[in-house]
Amino acid sequence: MAKIKEAADRLFGRKFVCKRCKKTIKANQMKIRAKKIPCPRCGSRDFRPKKKEKRMVAGTAK
Ligand SMILES: [Zn+2]
Repeated sequence: MAKIKEAADRLFGRKFVCKRCKKTIKANQMKIRAKKIPCPRCGSRDFRPKKKEKRMVAGTAK
């Protein structure tokens, strides 16, 4: 049942980059989608998901 944790990580542990000031934040994806989280630096609610994920650890992926 390790997949549940993976899915939770993917759903809730994503990083986003502010489109305006490029600040990276870690936030709940659903809240980002609902625009409930303002950027702590510039107050913008426009975020895009960060593409480069650090956890590219091979192990569970075949
Ligand atoms: Zn910002």
